[in-house]
Amino acid sequence: MEQTALPKRAAWKLLLLALLAAITWLAYAAAHHHASRILRDQADRQLEIIAHDLDSIIDKFETLPFALSFHPDVIEAASSADAPVVSRLNAALQAIQRQSGVSVIYLIDRAGNTVASSNWDDPQSFIGLNFRFRPYFIEAEHGRTGRFYGIGTRTGEAGYFIAQPVYRQASAIAPAVVRPNGADEKMDFVGVLVVKISLTDFERSWGTSEEPIALSDALGVVFLSNRDNIKYRSLAPLPSAAEQRLAGTLQYAGRQIEPIAALPLRERVHYSQAVERAIGPSGWKLMLFPSPDRPRVTAGYAALMAFVIMASGLLAAWARLQRRRRIEERLSAREALAKAAEELDQRIAQRTEELLQANQRLETKYTTLKQTETLLRATQDELLQASKLALLGQMAAGVTHEINQPLAAIRAFADNSLRFLDRDNTAQVRANLAHISSACARMGAIISQLKGFARKSGEQLEPVRLADAVESALLLLEGDISAGRVAVLKSLDPRCRVVGDRLRIEQVLINLLRNAIDAVEHAAAPEITITLAVGTEDVLLAVADNGPGIPENVASRLFEPFYTTKPSGKGLGLGLAISSSIIHAMNGELAAENLPAGGACFTIRLKTMIEPGTEESH
Ligand code: ADP
Repeated sequence: MEQTALPKRAAWKLLLLALLAAITWLAYAAAHHHASRILRDQADRQLEIIAHDLDSIIDKFETLPFALSFHPDVIEAASSADAPVVSRLNAALQAIQRQSGVSVIYLIDRAGNTVASSNWDDPQSFIGLNFRFRPYFIEAEHGRTGRFYGIGTRTGEAGYFIAQPVYRQASAIAPAVVRPNGADEKMDFVGVLVVKISLTDFERSWGTSEEPIALSDALGVVFLSNRDNIKYRSLAPLPSAAEQRLAGTLQYAGRQIEPIAALPLRERVHYSQAVERAIGPSGWKLMLFPSPDRPRVTAGYAALMAFVIMASGLLAAWARLQRRRRIEERLSAREALAKAAEELDQRIAQRTEELLQANQRLETKYTTLKQTETLLRATQDELLQASKLALLGQMAAGVTHEINQPLAAIRAFADNSLRFLDRDNTAQVRANLAHISSACARMGAIISQLKGFARKSGEQLEPVRLADAVESALLLLEGDISAGRVAVLKSLDPRCRVVGDRLRIEQVLINLLRNAIDAVEHAAAPEITITLAVGTEDVLLAVADNGPGIPENVASRLFEPFYTTKPSGKGLGLGLAISSSIIHAMNGELAAENLPAGGACFTIRLKTMIEPGTEESH
């Protein structure tokens, strides 16, 4: 994707650039064309005005020589050169010249010699000069109007010459009113009247024009221009015949006429393009050379403008695109954000719902647990009660058995003492009384145990020395132990003290010991080992026997209430259940295991009491 997208974009850019260039070029070309046309049109108009000016100047004086050719003094002077007539004519011509504003007016006789002239009194007077060689003379000689532009041979001033033939009537009859401007059989050609018009003012009026303006003759020689470097130069190289003719007529005072093309390139370029217009009756050509720079500059501006407009358009389009893209991005980002927020909300709601449900389940479980706990507690209490009753029964039997013996002994000793008193055997009486006393002491010990057992068990927590509790329990079971000929091995650390209910601890010990005695019933050498050890935090009290151990199927149900393997009447199956709950109530543990050497071992673990001395101050 990336790999194809990149060249594609580059291609687009290239295309756009090419388009830009093409349009710029087109704008240039169109503007150039348009500007050139406008310039040409302007030039045309300008030329038209100039031509009109020239026409009107020439036209203005066109009829002057014609009219003068009829003047009697003109005819007379041309034909006879009579001095008073000539001087009169000179004055008249001068007056007319001054009035009309022409350059010179002069009369040439049929031989070509000037006989009268408006500048008769001028040092450069034409009088006496011969103009036979001038084309206008030849034209007039042939009865035509002579028109000629040239440089004056005498004055060196350029001018336009209009010449008209002067005729004299061959007979005495008055000439016809309309005389054909050609040879008439009845007329004699006597001379030529010439009017020279200066075009200097006319030429000067072009000086304001920026573009070169030129007026060329029929041969293509420029004779009027606002640029000196092309004046008296030809548009194209002149053929030698034409050169000879010019030399003959002294039209341009014998100047060597060079073509414009001979100019240095730097000057020549201004004359490469021309707008032309034919003018006058002599095959003249009026030319204007528009500057090639102007259309170029205009076109350049147009191209620049087009480029700037397009570039700014493109830039604006690009900016718009960019803006739209940004807006789109922002919108999509906002959408994504909104979607994410919505999803989050949903998930939170879902989680909350789940949590609520979990909480509800927990609450239900908690309630059930509470109920179970209450039930268990009730059951435990009931069990305790039942076990107490059972224990009471057993104890009653034990106590009866224990007390019966000393009682019978006391009775026997007392009876004997009476008989010994009768025989005055006081020594024997004394001995018997001592026996009675010891039997009483024994009974007292048993009773004191019972008293302790009978004490109301409750939450009376007190420091209990475990070794004492063991001794008390053993004392209570002395009868059974001796009946079973059980050897009791003790390893009791007297420092072991816990905080608890002494009566209950003794009750647990009695249960464990009784079970142990039962277990070793059939052992070859019945043996019970009681170990009391102190750990860092705990106190461990172990009751081990060398009986058959706990069968596998019993182990899992050991602490179950009413689970017993003993025949009815002997066991209720409550001992371990109650013991376990008592120990748990004291934050302890009761555990059972089989010893590797055989036999079972019950271990009570209780938190050791912190001695006031060792207690950390707080
Ligand atoms: P009871 O002694 O009334 O049967 P207990 O809860 O004290 O009730 O004991 C449950 C059972 O655990 C006994 O029936 C016996 O099978 C087993 N048991 C208890 N102590 C021992 C022991 N030291 N060795 C072997 N089995 C024992």
